[in-house]
Amino acid sequence: MSLSEARTAVQHDLHGRWDTLLEQAAAHRAWWLLQWPGGDPYVPGLLAQDVQEAVHERADPLWPLCPTCRDHALFVEPDLGEDAFWVCHRSGLPIAEVGRLPEQPRTGTRP
Ligand SMILES: [Zn+2]
Repeated sequence: MSLSEARTAVQHDLHGRWDTLLEQAAAHRAWWLLQWPGGDPYVPGLLAQDVQEAVHERADPLWPLCPTCRDHALFVEPDLGEDAFWVCHRSGLPIAEVGRLPEQPRTGTRP
């Protein structure tokens, strides 16, 4: 997967939020790919992790919210590999492929 495809995938998962953080992470990964030309397959998982780290620091420590437990963030597995998925660490189950995360209820608001 190219960096622009990975960027589109992660942008989908962000559902239009935090574009600036995505831009910064994508720019960093563009540089990284120049150092490691064979790194393309790992880019979606790495970019998702970069963006998650930035979102946790600056905006929302629970992004993306686990749709099953609703009290913790999902994480990306594998750390460095192909076919990156958002996974619930509690159940150990994959929730969605990176780029296919369903629209989420906003954290912090309860009906
Ligand atoms: Zn969970």
